[in-house]
Amino acid sequence: MKVYLDNAATTELLPSVVDEVKYVIENVYGNPSSLHSIGLEAEKIVRNSREIIAKSLGVETGEVYFTSGATESDNTAIFGSVYANSRRGKHIITSKIEHPAVLNCFKKLEQEGFNVTYLDVDSNGIIDIDQLKNAISDQTIFISVMAVNNEIGSIEPIREIAKLKREYNFILHTDAVQAYTKIPCNLYNVADLISISGHKVHALKGIGALIVKKGIKISPLILGGGQEGGFRSGTENVPGIASFAKAVSEKADTEKIAHLREILKEGISNIKNAKINAYNDGNSAPHILSVSFNGLRGEVLMHMLEEKGIFVSTGSACHSNRFGESHVLSAIGLNKNEIGGTIRFSLGELNTEEEIKYCVDVLTKELNK
Ligand code: PLP
Repeated sequence: MKVYLDNAATTELLPSVVDEVKYVIENVYGNPSSLHSIGLEAEKIVRNSREIIAKSLGVETGEVYFTSGATESDNTAIFGSVYANSRRGKHIITSKIEHPAVLNCFKKLEQEGFNVTYLDVDSNGIIDIDQLKNAISDQTIFISVMAVNNEIGSIEPIREIAKLKREYNFILHTDAVQAYTKIPCNLYNVADLISISGHKVHALKGIGALIVKKGIKISPLILGGGQEGGFRSGTENVPGIASFAKAVSEKADTEKIAHLREILKEGISNIKNAKINAYNDGNSAPHILSVSFNGLRGEVLMHMLEEKGIFVSTGSACHSNRFGESHVLSAIGLNKNEIGGTIRFSLGELNTEEEIKYCVDVLTKELNK
């Protein structure tokens, strides 16, 4: 049996998405900027897709800008708004558990002379809103806090952070890659800037979007022919955009995913030396379960599972530093041994109960030996 439990790293295309992509690459090859009918057909796909993405997030169609993925969306949101607003102040805030697509931008801005506050998180991986309030000053121009963490699934209080905008004048960005389609969008669509990615929601790789709310001042990073309203130049990735909209229009069954995670969690809880991380009484994103297996190396366990047809990851597999020590697990207070023995199971739409039970059986047999 093949059991893919690495859906936070990337997902398999849904069959309907495969059909859509096939149709578009075979039939709709026009450039959306061309004025003839072949171009207009491609432009229509981009327009319809933008509407679908906007609706799925409860934002306006004109606020959706397609990008090459969330890494580009994060970079654009951060550099674009910090540079555009740097005259107002030099203080920016993020959390210690952000994805490298965010953290490395902040590190670069720090080297350039910006003053950065990195917020701590508790053992459930959640920031402290009071620490944030105390950090904000009239110099603070920008705050970026992810909606859901990619290694442990913690849900950050984006709505509460957004409420602080009534008192303070900052731009709020959220990396919503792991939140999008997994938790209700009203938990994070209050941010001024929102990054999402196609390949985490069963669409193609190389497509993402940045939501830029009306009135938010941000300079484009990619200049050229003025596509995407001049905000992000470059001929649009029409098959990618179509795949993104198709995947999103298939409503994600988060209840099923949460149910499967419960089965996995219950099964793993009975294994000696297994400790579930940052579960927060189930108040975490439904698709991620982080588990530390005391006395074991994550890589060894990962390969043992692979031999049985089960695919998981140690820490986070969506960046190259996958064998380094996880900054997220360290921020929630895990010691070196616990970090070294951590496996991330991440579930998706296409997993079945049978697969999860098989995974629990394999773990129980191998680890209780
Ligand atoms: N942000 C988070 C939270 C992620 O999990 C990922 C995963 O890779 C990214 C950003 C980067 O997304 P992309 O692969 O679309 O650039």
